[in-house]
Amino acid sequence: MKQIILVKYGELSTKGDNRHIFIKTLKNNIENTVQEKINIQKFHDRIYIETNQTNKVMQQLKNIFGIHAIALCYQTINDEAAIKETLLNIVNNNSKQTFKVKTKRANKEFPLTTPEINQKMGAYILKNSNLKVDVKNPELTITIEIRDNGTFIYTDEIKGLGGYPVGVQGQGILMLSGGLDSPVAAFLALKRGLEPIFLYFDSPPHTSEQAKNKVKELAKKLKKYHYDLKLYTVNFTKIQENIYQQVPHNYNVIIMRRMMYRIAEQFAKTNNAEVIITGESIGQVASQTIASLQATEAAINTLVIRPLACYDKTEIIELTKKIDTYETSIQPFIDCCTVFVPKHPVTKPTIKACLNYEQNLNFNLLQQVEIKLEDLNETTLAVL
Ligand code: ATP
Ligand code: MG
Repeated sequence: MKQIILVKYGELSTKGDNRHIFIKTLKNNIENTVQEKINIQKFHDRIYIETNQTNKVMQQLKNIFGIHAIALCYQTINDEAAIKETLLNIVNNNSKQTFKVKTKRANKEFPLTTPEINQKMGAYILKNSNLKVDVKNPELTITIEIRDNGTFIYTDEIKGLGGYPVGVQGQGILMLSGGLDSPVAAFLALKRGLEPIFLYFDSPPHTSEQAKNKVKELAKKLKKYHYDLKLYTVNFTKIQENIYQQVPHNYNVIIMRRMMYRIAEQFAKTNNAEVIITGESIGQVASQTIASLQATEAAINTLVIRPLACYDKTEIIELTKKIDTYETSIQPFIDCCTVFVPKHPVTKPTIKACLNYEQNLNFNLLQQVEIKLEDLNETTLAVL
């Protein structure tokens, strides 16, 4: 009898041919995330983890996407007496009053049927402990799983984050600003298995080093959900100044966003990323009306995913608190969108007008743009 962590995939196990890629990615993500020494065994619908640091490892598993549930279980051999001994050990270490036994008999060679196991083991616990049976509303549900590689017995299941293992849907360029929205968009994209590459548009000296550090801090916080996240910074100053000088101010923001999308598209191509992800939400500001989103998107051919499109700000804020980005996001450093915002931005821009105004812009600047990888390991805490 030994303790082992059981990892369940949920949604994953229904994915047919892709299943082996999902499981391989999940195993890889677990190995790269967990700091402690572990031994992983993967099966078609389960992963088992052996470690002598069960609590620490379970804490880390709670932040890995693709995991549906985690349970600390006792593993024993497929033998009636061994199962009874394990059950006794579990019930004697428990202060609950009522129980029920639930059996999954995956190994069809085990001599007893599922109802027989439930009945026999239930009777055994009843006789050898103070617990009473309650099949409808038990305080303790004892799950016995009889599998080819042994019998696994557990009582409590901890919910995992769900979703898909990060990476199974490829990579996406995620436009990360210092605001509340884009870190949440990152969390939701990660949840569906997309690995974001963060891209921040910086406009020094119009925007400060502190604003950039805030974005770095957000990227670091998101590393809690995936070990391998990178942040790149685009020097956007010249393009932004060019727009400010050449374009009527009510079209500034929309054309700036078209330029951002173009750079993100270029960067996606060089990184083999297939999508662009943003924190845009329908109607939140003038540049996020349906007409504005259409006019922005028309600048590129790459698929744009907007995980927050239909979220209210209050729902987004709730999520920032859950993922622990709220305190960082609310620090008031000006970012490049706010610097050049006109008093009356257009809410119904047309693609025709955008193309027309863009004729006056220097498109060579797009080719010359500098993109730099930031070091997320150095300490850059943005403190007021
Ligand atoms: P957020 O709270 O995410 O900053 P917002 O409500 O401030 O969003 P906008 O500033 O209009 O809205 O930006 C919409 C989206 O565009 C952001 O969620 C983000 O994905 C992207 N974005 C805006 N500014 C930048 C920037 N400086 N660098 C990278 N992406 C940006
Ligand atoms: Mg913003």
